[in-house]
Amino acid sequence: HWSQFPMAPPDPIIGLTEAYLKDDFPDKVNVGVGAYRCDQGMPFVLPVVREAENELVAEELDHEYSGIAGCPNFVDVALKFAYGDDCVPLKENRVAGVQTLSGTGGLRVFGEVLHQFGHKHIYVPNPTWGNHIPIFTNAGLEVRKYRYYDNATSNLDFNGLLDDLQAIPEGSCVLLHACAHNPTGMDPTMEQWKQISNVAKERNLLPFFDCAYQGFASGDARKDAAALRMFVEDGHNIALVQSFSKNFGLYGQRVGALSVVADTPDEAKRVLSQLKVHIRPSYSNPPRHGARIVSKILSSEKKTDEFVEQCMGMAKRIDSMRIKLRNTLEELGSSRSWEHVTKQIGMFAYSGMSKDEVVALREKHHIYCTLDGRISMAGVTSKNVEYIAKAIHDVTEG
Ligand code: PMP
Repeated sequence: HWSQFPMAPPDPIIGLTEAYLKDDFPDKVNVGVGAYRCDQGMPFVLPVVREAENELVAEELDHEYSGIAGCPNFVDVALKFAYGDDCVPLKENRVAGVQTLSGTGGLRVFGEVLHQFGHKHIYVPNPTWGNHIPIFTNAGLEVRKYRYYDNATSNLDFNGLLDDLQAIPEGSCVLLHACAHNPTGMDPTMEQWKQISNVAKERNLLPFFDCAYQGFASGDARKDAAALRMFVEDGHNIALVQSFSKNFGLYGQRVGALSVVADTPDEAKRVLSQLKVHIRPSYSNPPRHGARIVSKILSSEKKTDEFVEQCMGMAKRIDSMRIKLRNTLEELGSSRSWEHVTKQIGMFAYSGMSKDEVVALREKHHIYCTLDGRISMAGVTSKNVEYIAKAIHDVTEG
C-alpha cells in the first residue's frame, strides 16, 4: 500500500529549483543550485564542448555498452587533468581509476567500498556540500565533522581544523574539498595545505579529495589541482573524485571519475577490481556521450587550451558579479560587512544570512537560495544583481 508511504520532504537544493519553477513572479531568481548561467541568465554550453560534440556526431559512433569502468581513454585523460602529466604514481601505473556517474556517483561508490573494507566513519568539513551527508550515510558510514569555518569572522577556522584532524582516530578517511570549497568559498592556503598534509601523515589518515570545481578557484583549471598534487608528492595514497559538471558545463551528462592511488601496480589492480564489483550491480556501466566529449577535449592540446580559456571566462564573470553585489550592498548603506563576498572563491557566496532572512528573501522577493545563506554566484547576472542586492539589503536591515 503506497498510501502508507510517508511523504518525503523535497531535496534542500533540487527542491528549491522545483519551487522556483512554480513561482510566476516575473523577476524571480534562482541562486540555489550551482549551475552556471551566462550574463543573459541562460544555461551556457562551452564552445569547445559544442565543437567536440559536432565532431562526435560526424564520427557516427555506435552506442554499445561501456566497460564497467567506463571509457579507458576518458579515465586516462581525466586523471592526468587532475594529477598532472608528471605524476609519479600515474607513470608507475599504481592509480586505480574508473569513470563514474559524475561526482555524486563517485562519492557513493567510494563510500560503499570504504564501508565494505572496514571503515565505520568518514570525516567531512563543517559545513560541507549538503549531499555529502546522505551520500555517505547511505553508503553505511557514520558521518562526522571537523571544524572548517568560523561564522563569526567569515574565515577559515584553521586552528580548529588542525586540532580536529589531530584528534580523530588514526587511519580515518577525511574528505577534503580539492578547491573552491562548497559552500564557504574559502580554501586553505598552500602553506596550510602543507600542514594538513603533515597531520594526515602523522595520523595515517586517508585523504579523500572531492574535486568538483577545477577551474573555478584560481580561474586556471591547470592550477586548481595544486593541493591534491602536493598530497600525492608528499606520498599520500589519496582517493579522488572528479566532477566535470561545472567546469565543462556537462551537468546532465553525468561525467566523473574516481581514482585511488596505491603503493604498487598490483595493489591498484586489486582496488580497481573491487570498484568494479561495486559498480556492476549498481548501475552496470556509465553513460558514454559526456565522457567522449571530455575525452576529445583533453586529448587535444588545442582544445584543452580553449577549454581552460572558456572555463576562466565563467570564473571571471562570477568574480565580476561578486564585486558588483558587494559594491551595491555597500552603496545601499548596509551596516554589515560584505567583504567576504569578494574574498570567497568558486561558485558560491556564503553570505552569512540567517535562515529567517533566507526565508524572507524567498517569500518577499522570490529569490531562491539555500537555508544556510549560500548564494550561487553563477546565477547572478548584470540584469538581476541590483535586484538581489536590494532584496538582501531589505531582509538584512529591515
Ligand atoms: N561535490 C561537491 C562539493 C559539489 O558541490 C558537487 C556538485 N554540487 C558535487 C560533488 C557533485 O556534483 P555532480 O554529481 O553533478 O558531479
